[in-house]
Amino acid sequence: MTTIDTIMIRPSSGPSYNDCARRTIAKAYGFLLRDAGYEPRQLSSSVGAAVGSSVHKAGEYSLHIKMETGDDTGTDNDAIDAAVAEFDARIEDGVIWDDTTPTRNAAQKQIDVMTRMYRSRIVPKLVPVMIERRIELQYKPGFEISGQPDVVASVDDETAIGLRDTKTGVVQRANGAQYGNYAALLKSVHIPVSSITEDFLQRMPVGKSQPEPISKIYDVRTCIALAKATNDRMIRDINTFLETGDIETFAPNPMSMMCGDKYCPLHGTTACPHHK
Ligand code: SF4
Repeated sequence: MTTIDTIMIRPSSGPSYNDCARRTIAKAYGFLLRDAGYEPRQLSSSVGAAVGSSVHKAGEYSLHIKMETGDDTGTDNDAIDAAVAEFDARIEDGVIWDDTTPTRNAAQKQIDVMTRMYRSRIVPKLVPVMIERRIELQYKPGFEISGQPDVVASVDDETAIGLRDTKTGVVQRANGAQYGNYAALLKSVHIPVSSITEDFLQRMPVGKSQPEPISKIYDVRTCIALAKATNDRMIRDINTFLETGDIETFAPNPMSMMCGDKYCPLHGTTACPHHK
């Protein structure tokens, strides 16, 4: 098998690894499987991920201006333009539409509504001190963690700073394994966070009203413990796979909501006979 100097662990792969380790390896580290003779299918990105990245872009635009000026946040229209440009870039090489977002026109309307909701409900509360800065951390021999926490901010007049992450989707999921790695990365550059808050904006079908954002608070120590357990399991599995080339090293989860041909590069291939 190929010798690899360093493998980057992305914090966002943590929750996914705990959902289906084998799918996550196929999506994030497909080269490992190809080097061992497996053939993951090429999949376009999902429209849900593209809409999420676009709403992130709008938030980033707004909070950057706020960080520079103190109170200005730019205009809704400019934030939406930045978000739609991001969406178009994300789907340039193809996209998998879904029932909630079946067309580009639907995506544009959803991005418009979610951007306005984020800017009117969340942006006014935050005093950002750091936005989307990449941090890398040597974790174990041969493995680094590399990630960009969305926003580090204080809230209203509080002085303590916390991590703030935006999620969009049809349903809200649990992302503690991702946030624990962000907290560890921030601690490594002397920015300890005292809180972790996820702002969730539901992706609604066009024509249905947009619900208020749900701001979910995570416990920092619990997230760090979950991230460490997940990282260590991933590293142990990858090292075993590099020695044996046996794909059964990566536990499959055919009960995952994402076990299907739209979302898993191994679905329907001999590399995963476990799918539903
Ligand atoms: S087919 Fe299902 S169980 Fe197998 S890797 Fe994909 S998501 Fe996991």
